[in-house]
Formats: sequence, structure tokens, C-alpha cells
Amino acid sequence: MKRRAFWWDIDESLEPSKKYELPKQSDFVIVGGGYTGLSAGLTIARQGKSVVVLDSGKPGLGASTRNGGICSGQIRLSHSSLCHRFSKEFADEVYLEGVEARFDLSKFCLEENIDCQLKMSGRFTGAMSEADYNKQSKESERLNKLDGHKTSMVSKADQHNEISTDLFFGGMLREEIGGFHPGKFFAGLLKCSEGAGVNIISDTPVLEIKDISEGKKSVVTKRGSISTGKVIVATNAYTGTKHRVGKFLRRRLVPAQSAIIVTEKLGVDRIKEMMPKLRMYGNTANLYSYFRPTPDHDRILLGSRGFDKLEATDRTVKYLKQKLSLIFPDLLECKIEYCWQGNVGFTRTQLPVIFEYNDIYYAAGYAGSGTVWARWMGKKVAETAMRTANKPSIFYGEPPKSIPFYDGNPWFLPSIQYYYALKDWLKFRH
Ligand SMILES: Cc1cc2nc3c(=O)[nH]c(=O)nc-3n(C[C@H](O)[C@H](O)[C@H](O)COP(=O)(O)OP(=O)(O)OC[C@H]3O[C@@H](n4cnc5c(N)ncnc54)[C@H](O)[C@@H]3O)c2cc1C
Repeated sequence: MKRRAFWWDIDESLEPSKKYELPKQSDFVIVGGGYTGLSAGLTIARQGKSVVVLDSGKPGLGASTRNGGICSGQIRLSHSSLCHRFSKEFADEVYLEGVEARFDLSKFCLEENIDCQLKMSGRFTGAMSEADYNKQSKESERLNKLDGHKTSMVSKADQHNEISTDLFFGGMLREEIGGFHPGKFFAGLLKCSEGAGVNIISDTPVLEIKDISEGKKSVVTKRGSISTGKVIVATNAYTGTKHRVGKFLRRRLVPAQSAIIVTEKLGVDRIKEMMPKLRMYGNTANLYSYFRPTPDHDRILLGSRGFDKLEATDRTVKYLKQKLSLIFPDLLECKIEYCWQGNVGFTRTQLPVIFEYNDIYYAAGYAGSGTVWARWMGKKVAETAMRTANKPSIFYGEPPKSIPFYDGNPWFLPSIQYYYALKDWLKFRH
């Protein structure tokens, strides 16, 4: 079994085409070279400004080439919870921005000729109880009233048209959602960014950002400093606790481990028997899993929470395999060929954020749905920093509240996960 991302085994290059020198000065400096950082860099470079993207390792090897590739523009909170916690106007705007961001991703791939196997094949979310099915029905009615949403309910009796399992009590279909190949998308974004003139520098951790004078900062890295007018921090769930640069963000963002397995080749016919419409899939558990055919329709990928800090261990593989065989009991004996993990970032409200603090701009917190949001928020944070946005993102505002007794090391996560595991067990034991 390979303990590395399935998405890294591609012909396209995931590394910058040349080694860029650290410049002394740049109009903009971006810390972090994932989807957010590169998208911000591309947006800035296309406005004729000089921009450097610095990554502590290889750009993209954070979450951006480790994800499941499901392109939803999903918000962790349902439309009804958002109405309840905030207001209907806010909930509508959030969900409509999700539609805009997803549409913009498709447009971007088309215009830039990025062949990342993006396909809006729909997503089926299986209900883990009758009560969940009823909740989904109400949510489906709400979403269908909003432009750009096309949802419907699939009863338990009709479920086998969607997926050959008896685990679910029916489920909700969202036709406007789909998936891509995260590695191919990153490779395309990287190429576009370099083509537009973004300096992308690997293996260069940013240590801190110093104030020099009004409107002038010095970005201090392990290899020297860059003087700049504006900085965007795009380190998201990889901010870590090591460097001063992450001090403000890490108190406001919780990195949670998420892990993925990919099966051996099962053959397209067998996959089509299990997933006749070759969609993206998920379920309604608190500790939910998401799964999908790989873009070649030859294997199944399944992701859920992870247990490990750095590399996925056998315990994680066993846990994910168990989830897979609960859905498809026939896969109990199948081989797992890939397993890996990565971090996803959550704010206290579980909503993405764009904000500015001390003349530094931040975008983060996509709560496991960053394939659409990260590229979009990268673009939006760049427009905000350049003051060129026609309309700021609904997520632009005050810095999110910091989390009490927390400085970037999420010591409380295991207890939260046990709590949700218990809730799931109590809910589904019948
Ligand atoms: C296992 C897994 C599965 C997922 N599945 C899905 C999915 O199916 N659908 C979906 O929509 N989303 C999914 N996501 C979420 C999605 O991948 C992320 O939200 C998105 O990639 C975030 O991109 P980013 O650019 O903000 O962050 P990242 O890609 O994590 O980039 C942050 C970068 O910052 C760099 N960095 C950190 N500190 C420093 C420093 N001091 N100096 C310089 N550089 C620094 C890191 O090296 C890293 O490259 C998943 C994530 C994981 C981990």
C-alpha cells in the first residue's frame, strides 16, 4: 500500500517549472502556495502587479493535492441552521455565493484549458436514519427555492438506482455538484500562475512579518527578507504553531485531520454496478464519510476523519475500510492501494472567512469544502487587498473570534470526535 496521495501519480508536474530567486522587493507577498495562495497570486499578477508566493514545502502538498476532489461549494451549516443562527438574507447570500463560486470554477477551467476531469455528475447523500431523511427533505425544499440549486429526494425503495447499498434510508440528490482530479487541477493552476508571472518559491518557510513603516512590511523567511506593500496569508489548516507569522490565525482556526483510502482497481463495470450514475457520495453521520469513483472510474476513494498527526497509520486504514465495507459489504476483501491524510481548517462558526488585521489579509476555514471555496476565496481576498472587488465576498468581515485556551494545538479534538462517535452510535444502533 502506498502511503501517499493517489493524485500525485500523474504525468503533469506538480512543481514550479524553475527555481525562482527570492526578490528583494515585491508589490505583494503571499504566504502559502495551495489553491488559495496561487489563486490570489494569479489574480494579482493579472492586474500587472509583482507578486511572490512562498511555501514552506512544495506548493500544493498541503491540503490542495490531498483532498477527495468533490467540488460542492458546500457550507457545513445547512440553509436552515444558517437562518436560525443568523438570518434568512445571510443564509440566501451564503448559498448563492456557493453557486457563483462553483460556476466560476467551471468557467476558469474552461477558459484556462485546465483538463482536470471536472464533471458536475451530482452528489447523493445517504440518510443514516428516517429522521435524517425527513430533515433532508425540508432542506431540499429550501434549496430548490434558491437559484442554481437542483435537488431532489430519492426514497429507500428507489435508492438502488443511485447506489447498490441497503445502508441508507434514501437520500438527497444535488445535481449541480460534481468532482475533479485535485492533482491535475493544481498542476493547471500552477502553470497558469507561472504563465501570468507569479514567482512561486518552494521550501521557504515564512517566519514572521515585520512592520517597517506606514504601508511597508518586511516578510522574513529562512532564506532572507522581502520588502512589500501588502501580504496575504494563505496557510489555512497548515499554519502550524512553529512560526510567529501564524500567531494571529492559529488562535482562530482549528486544523482537523482528514484521511482517505483508495481501493485497488475494481474495473469500470463493477464500479458501475455499485454506483450506476458515477456520482459523488456522502452520508448524514456526524462523523460522516464521503466517497466517489476515481476519475477513471476504476477504483473507489473514501474519506473520513483521521487519527494521526503526520502519516496515516494502519488504525486509520482499518477504520476507513470498515466504513467502506459497511456501505459495500462485497468490498470487505478488496485491497487498499493508497492511504494518506491531511488537515482541514475550521473556524468557530464553521464558515469560511476573509479578513484583514494589521494590514495583512487572510482567507481560510473552508471546513473540508475547499476545492471550490479556496480558489474563489483566493481570488476574492486578492481583489479585496487590491481594492478592485466589484462586490466583496459575503465572508469578508471582522477577524473571527479567537478560541479560548487555544493556541493552534487542538487538544480538544479527540474529545469532540468521541462525543460525535457516541452520538452517531446512539442514533444509528437500531
Ligand atoms: C484529506 C482531505 C480531503 C478533502 N476533501 C475535500 C473534498 O473532497 N472537497 C473539498 O471541497 N475540499 C476537500 N478538502 C479541503 C480542501 O483540500 C482545502 O480546503 C483546500 O485545499 C485548502 O487550500 P488552501 O490553499 O487554503 O490550503 P493548503 O492547500 O493547505 O495550502 C496551505 C499552504 O501553506 C503552506 N504554509 C504553511 N505555513 C507556512 C509558512 N510559515 N510559510 C510558507 N508556507 C506555509 C503549506 O506548506 C501549504 O502548502 C479536503 C482536505 C483534506 C486534507
